[in-house]
Amino acid sequence: MAKASEYSRSEIPLFIVKVTENIELSPGVFLISWLNRSPFIPGQVVKVAVDRAQPPRIYSVCSGDTGDKMSVLFNIKEDGYLTPRLAKAVPGDDLLVSSPYGSFHGDNKPAFWIATGTGISPFYSMFQSGLADNKILIHGVRFLNQFYFEDELDWALGKNYIRCCSRETSDKVYHGRVTDYLLTINDFPKDYKYYLCGKSLMVVDVRDLLISKGIPYDHIYAEIYF
Ligand SMILES: Cc1cc2nc3c(=O)[nH]c(=O)nc-3n(C[C@H](O)[C@H](O)[C@H](O)COP(=O)(O)OP(=O)(O)OC[C@H]3O[C@@H](n4cnc5c(N)ncnc54)[C@H](O)[C@@H]3O)c2cc1C
Repeated sequence: MAKASEYSRSEIPLFIVKVTENIELSPGVFLISWLNRSPFIPGQVVKVAVDRAQPPRIYSVCSGDTGDKMSVLFNIKEDGYLTPRLAKAVPGDDLLVSSPYGSFHGDNKPAFWIATGTGISPFYSMFQSGLADNKILIHGVRFLNQFYFEDELDWALGKNYIRCCSRETSDKVYHGRVTDYLLTINDFPKDYKYYLCGKSLMVVDVRDLLISKGIPYDHIYAEIYF
């Protein structure tokens, strides 16, 4: 599991980049992009700021490792500092962004990718980087319009893309939380890796559930959004 201290390095330098796109994917959730020349490993994070008045915030990279674009997916915290400002950014605006870092790394081995909300980001980056073979993606959200990149993921992953929605229902979607869905699985492959990404409550609950089902602790990799 990544340590909090790894993410609080205030000395990490920030570079000025120009926003190229800022798209509202669903109400209050944006995919913001800029030109990128830093290589990165899918799953890594960057620090982002709009000015030096407040420390930068951390975001998972949400784009593939080829091409010259880097994106992050964020949701507006109405009373937060950065995200309401970030939501107003338009192409040509300056952003302050760090080099990518972090130890939550995707690879070619068989794995479960388990996310809630904007925690889909590192998995979408891995998917866009060609790492989706042998993967089962489970995405939990509250509302049906929060399945970001749904059409693309459904088309590419088919039955290995499981959507869980806790507050609305649809034919293609499991009604309930990610943890409810996982409880329906009796036999988890013990040789798979299990990547978890989202809020701490989900990550801790899913980790405990997997351990109770016999998954070795060192097969579980977590990225907690706090
Ligand atoms: C490793 C990691 C990866 C992350 N990746 C993503 C990602 O890909 N996408 C994403 O959307 N988010 C991600 N996050 C969360 C992100 O870093 C920010 O925390 C989030 O976007 C909020 O930023 P903000 O500046 O708008 O809000 P903030 O100003 O940080 O405020 C956040 C909340 O805390 C409250 N708050 C602020 N100050 C105080 C205080 N002094 N006392 C009590 N409450 C307070 C605010 O009211 C608000 O509700 C990640 C976090 C981590 C650690």
